[in-house]
Amino acid sequence: MDKYVYEFADGGRHMANLLGGESAGLAEMTRMDLPVPPGFTITTEACRFYLEHGREPARLAEEITRAWTQLEASVHKQFGADRPMLVAVRSGAEISMPGMMDTVLNVGLGDEAVEQLASWSGDERFAWEAYSRFVRSFAETVLRLPEYLFRTAEADVRRSAGTTATGELDTARLKTLTHVYQHIVRHETGDAIPRDPRRQLELAVRAVFDSWNGERARAYRNREDIPEDLGTAVNVCLMVFGSLGPNSGTGVAFTRDPATGAPGAYGDYLRRAVGEDIVAGLRNTVPLTELERLDPASYAHLCANLRALETHYRDVCDIEFTIERGTLWMLQTRIGERGAEATFRIASDLVDEGVITPDEALGRVTGERLARLLFPRFADSAHGHPSAHGVAASPGAAVGRIVFDAHKAADHKAKGQNVILVRPQTRPEDLPGMLASIGLLTTSGGKTSHAAVVARGLGIPCVCGAERIELDPHHKTLTLPDGTRLHEGDFLSLDGSTGDVFAGRTPLVTSPVAREFLHPAGGAPQLWPGPEPAHDEAVVHAVQRVLGWADHHRRLGVRANADTATEADQARAFGAEGIGLCRTEHMFLGDRQPIVERLILAETAQERGAALAELLTVQREDFRAILRVMDGLPVAVRLLDPPLHEFLPDLTELEIRHATLDDRSRDRRHTARLLEAARRTHEQNPMLGLRGVRLGLTSPGLYATQVRALAEAAAQLRAEGGDPRPEIMVPLVGDVRELRLIKLQAEQVLAEVSASTGIEVSCPIGTMIELPRAALTAGDLAADAAFFSFGTNDLTQTTWGFSRDDAEASFFPDYLKHKIFDVSPFQTIDPVVGSLVTQATAAGKSARPGLETGVCGEHGGDPASIRFFDQAGLDYVSCSPFRVLVARLEAGKAALEKE
Ligand code: PEP
Ligand code: MG
Repeated sequence: MDKYVYEFADGGRHMANLLGGESAGLAEMTRMDLPVPPGFTITTEACRFYLEHGREPARLAEEITRAWTQLEASVHKQFGADRPMLVAVRSGAEISMPGMMDTVLNVGLGDEAVEQLASWSGDERFAWEAYSRFVRSFAETVLRLPEYLFRTAEADVRRSAGTTATGELDTARLKTLTHVYQHIVRHETGDAIPRDPRRQLELAVRAVFDSWNGERARAYRNREDIPEDLGTAVNVCLMVFGSLGPNSGTGVAFTRDPATGAPGAYGDYLRRAVGEDIVAGLRNTVPLTELERLDPASYAHLCANLRALETHYRDVCDIEFTIERGTLWMLQTRIGERGAEATFRIASDLVDEGVITPDEALGRVTGERLARLLFPRFADSAHGHPSAHGVAASPGAAVGRIVFDAHKAADHKAKGQNVILVRPQTRPEDLPGMLASIGLLTTSGGKTSHAAVVARGLGIPCVCGAERIELDPHHKTLTLPDGTRLHEGDFLSLDGSTGDVFAGRTPLVTSPVAREFLHPAGGAPQLWPGPEPAHDEAVVHAVQRVLGWADHHRRLGVRANADTATEADQARAFGAEGIGLCRTEHMFLGDRQPIVERLILAETAQERGAALAELLTVQREDFRAILRVMDGLPVAVRLLDPPLHEFLPDLTELEIRHATLDDRSRDRRHTARLLEAARRTHEQNPMLGLRGVRLGLTSPGLYATQVRALAEAAAQLRAEGGDPRPEIMVPLVGDVRELRLIKLQAEQVLAEVSASTGIEVSCPIGTMIELPRAALTAGDLAADAAFFSFGTNDLTQTTWGFSRDDAEASFFPDYLKHKIFDVSPFQTIDPVVGSLVTQATAAGKSARPGLETGVCGEHGGDPASIRFFDQAGLDYVSCSPFRVLVARLEAGKAALEKE
């Protein structure tokens, strides 16, 4: 690289890796002729050199001096000689790390410069306030002196002035405060802050470089998977002042509403303030529309700039701006973070506006965001008046227990509790607690406060600035406007889409998007009394359009895992093209359990036959209902998988019951038989025990009865004019001989049913691939299997050799911490398990051309895994009904990416 320092005008948006995101945005705006204060950027490469060698590159000082001299010249030219040259020194990495590194403002101030600032601004108090802030921030950030020294000194000065707010100190007290700070610096370091601005800059730049390795920054990178060696750029920008009187201020704006996606400028403004004041959320901002009233000219200028940026970037932008005595300055821009609803609405609107193509829109949405739109919401507020109200900062509903500090949130999460973090405002160090919470509530700050921005990024609901709630962090209570006091651990409900806060637990209802699919065209129970908000309609419409684009590209079929007619109904409504897995075990539970007990306890063929006959009747009805709902679509029914003893009461429970019952009671005799059966069938490792096909092979008549129930249900429906498409799926097969034996029995039953009903029941018989042995002998299996369905849950368990039920709760947190894997292999397909799927698919398809292959493990609904299965050449994925939309979207995106 030929240089370490770039003037803003020399950079551009595509140089974020070298200039960092912030400077790339400033450079782009400079090129667009938007009003950006002049400045320059020190590259990430200079930072990387510094981090590697512990010193700056040799040429850096000289390059900075040159840029500094040029900056001085341009400031003189642009603003006249009396404007003091003060700069902001900010960090800016390629990937945004908001608030995680250091910033030093007002670099260049000193005993003389403060006088110059006072005379230029005509506001001595302003100058001294800036100077006091500078000395303190330089001392804390650059000289690394402890914060409490300054906090204590500040409190002393406030006390002697008889006020509790530093903002109320007069000029004389601000001078005193500055001198006290200077005294602390001399006392602690033996020296004063350097007077030479160039030297101040050098130290500030080094402090920003060092902050790349600060604790906060490292923790953030670790969590967000940001590489450690990127380094940060440093941007040095002429200070403009938002605190210079009533016609000054500072704000944050989006080109559209980041929570709803509604068109039109959106943002927060704070009069007589600097940027930090907004993010800190200490003072409540006013909506941007208020700026229109306060300063129409600046507002119009701002809106024009926002439009220019959105057109230029072809996406929503967020910006920071400052107005200095009626002059607008743009201080930052980037592609705006947005909530899930906004993601879809904006993508769809930008297509309508001719800004992007449908394919680009598809690239901007994700299944993970879509999943959030399917979360339930609170029932309409007509069902209960909110206890308090704040800013709707990040959409979605949350019901959880109150905690007041971030550490507690993490502790409670570890105990499996849902918590809502309640704070006056949040700070970067609260992040672990925010991550552990299902919702956030703050009593100050707006949609652009730290809490709001982080919540939207994390996708958790957030209500900000609920000013009328009083917090008492000391006693750990909050008091609602009506006087109700809630304590830590009490339930609270909040709705980040409306800003409503409710004491206690508020009932939830289906989300508008889910409702539209499940009950289109108002055919459904009315969940929202009164007119539906237009916004919901816009979001639903956007989701439907985007799904249409995804379906257009999609190669993978999408089926659902559904065990009941109700689930099948939901699946079909979400667009499932069949059932990929109907687990039959629930048909053995509830009121059927006594039948299963009779089957297990049967001592004669006759007793056994009677129990099976009962099962046949109930299962036939179950299958009829499901096949009817899925008329014309395939339904893969899995024969019974879990070991029979799972249907008996727990062994210990039986032992206790047996010991406490009267010797002569009938109940005791029955319990004794159950106990004997439970002991007989007890297994040390049920996951590897008598289950799946092994059960079918050793439990006479069991699978045959299930096949008969399915075949008779299909025959009945066909006789009624329906088009049932059952498929039989054999679980946990490891060898083709197992499959062959079951297939033989099943074909015989199918032939019997066809003969007895006079209706030809054809039913493909396939196998699940859930064991490495099956995957590695897929070619042999394909000779006898009409289809393969990969049970990636078991395949993951058996490939890794760990039990899902135990491993996830016990040692997975350690494995994740040690980065043995980045994500649970039960969530996203493990590459080695994946390669078994790929090999088996290829071997199966080559042995039997046209072999249909699908996945029915949990991975079928996981975005990253879906992409993998598309590559692997599978025919379909199958997932729970509520993931069907996500799978359709991700399958479409996967195909588009390949194109
Ligand atoms: C599987 O193993 O992936 C599967 C779908 O079966 P189950 O989860 O019921 O064991
Ligand atoms: Mg399985």
